[in-house]
Amino acid sequence: MNARTRSEIEIDEGLCKGCDICVKLCRRGALQPGNEPNEMGHFPPIAKKELCNGCGVCELYCPDLAITVWKVEE
Ligand code: SF4
Ligand code: SF4
Repeated sequence: MNARTRSEIEIDEGLCKGCDICVKLCRRGALQPGNEPNEMGHFPPIAKKELCNGCGVCELYCPDLAITVWKVEE
């Protein structure tokens, strides 16, 4: 039996300042510019987790520690 792995992305919208660094760094296009402002008037990105390979680059480079990425075995 082969285990399948998928990725989960969580963006803490209250911490995000909408800089889009993560959007620019994601080579998979799994993060896209957001269109809904958070309570500070910033625009958190939209995560397309089906495109994410769990590389963790966005989590590593987010200056506000607003992203968490993890892998789930199914
Ligand atoms: S890098 Fe962090 S703060 Fe900047 S848009 Fe992405 S989640 Fe928000
Ligand atoms: S973990 Fe990697 S592939 Fe997934 S959203 Fe972040 S930068 Fe993109």
